[in-house]
Amino acid sequence: MAERKQPQRKKIEATGQMMKIMSDYFYDLNDAAKSTTRKVAWCTSVGPAELLRAMGFAVHFPENHAAMLGATRMATDLIPEANAIGYSPDICSYLTADIGAHLKGISPLAKAYPGIDAPPRPDVLVYNTNQCRDVQDWFNWYAKELNTPCIGITSPKNFTEVSDILIDDVTMQIESLIPTLEEVSGQKLDMQRLRETVRLSRECTELWRQVLETAAATPAPLTFFDGTIHMGPAVVLRGTQQAVDYYKQLLAELEQRIADHVGAVDNEKHRIYWEGMPVWGRLRQHSELFTELQASVLVSTYCSSWIFPDFDTNDPIRSMAKAYLELFIVRSDTFKEQYIKSMLEKFNIDGIIYHDAKTCPCNSNSRYGMPQRLEQETGIPSLVISGDLNDLRCISDEQTRTNIEAFIEQLEERQ
Ligand code: SF4
Repeated sequence: MAERKQPQRKKIEATGQMMKIMSDYFYDLNDAAKSTTRKVAWCTSVGPAELLRAMGFAVHFPENHAAMLGATRMATDLIPEANAIGYSPDICSYLTADIGAHLKGISPLAKAYPGIDAPPRPDVLVYNTNQCRDVQDWFNWYAKELNTPCIGITSPKNFTEVSDILIDDVTMQIESLIPTLEEVSGQKLDMQRLRETVRLSRECTELWRQVLETAAATPAPLTFFDGTIHMGPAVVLRGTQQAVDYYKQLLAELEQRIADHVGAVDNEKHRIYWEGMPVWGRLRQHSELFTELQASVLVSTYCSSWIFPDFDTNDPIRSMAKAYLELFIVRSDTFKEQYIKSMLEKFNIDGIIYHDAKTCPCNSNSRYGMPQRLEQETGIPSLVISGDLNDLRCISDEQTRTNIEAFIEQLEERQ
């Protein structure tokens, strides 16, 4: 039997700088939790982070912590802890892993950042249900457990157009958070500071878009798997200068790769769109598998979810409301299909992989006929893989490999 060629994953040089700013971020959060003068807010990944930052909060994102639990493969053993107190194995495995970690008193932060034992204790919890209801349940559990105020935005869902009525609704909900946040932080909202934070978020998001769009080049200079790592600053540091500076550096490196015709995958033969969540505990395996098959998984809905072109310093709160309503996950299938079709064209895609994540129905778009409809309209074939973002018990590695290999073979036959 022929020996498999060891795939070469290409290192992005900016990774060292990203690790440094992420490390600074976690130590800063830890310092804030220990200080008597700075307050800590927990925020959902597409919650009103700009408002919190502008009010002086150090902002922790539990989903980021939960993804770390997945990437370090700690999650699967922790999920049963949350199941034992009533949270089903079928609900969000970010929620169950994170609550499980809290119950067990362990965190991947402790290993990665000596001196940090756990996520920072919150002074307030702030959610936005634009992505799912699970975040509300998750934050409410901590509110009770830690005796901390929990406030949030209940977002409309499943709409095609982002109408003024919807924006008015969310704008008012964001405004209604301010009195509680002022009380907890002990300071009045400074609109000038909010404008500046929104400006920095806008700049970060614009650079992140440009980073992701470098993948339109042939060969693509970065993959979805790179994107899941390098989106860290866009998620946890948007609204800061560090994130802006980082994406300028990353963009310059990727533009250089394009100029030098260097692809993230050697001899790129196939260009794949990834729809759905990553499998955090299998990022390396999946990246190596596609590299081996000379297939570049180069664009995804997931990484593009932190692009918010609507942020506007002239109307910061309303523009935040609009930006967080424009999010893919909260929209109707009609919108989603149009969006994906435009991405297939822009990135010159020849195959789609849908990840049907067992515990995240909101980010699994293969369950109501979308793959078939899109395939019929575009002629681009697709494959649905069953798995999960964090719970490795839901994954069959052999099955995934076999299905992906067969899919790539199918693409080869079409060439
Ligand atoms: S969108 Fe999915 S993964 Fe994210 S918090 Fe909601 S259920 Fe969990």
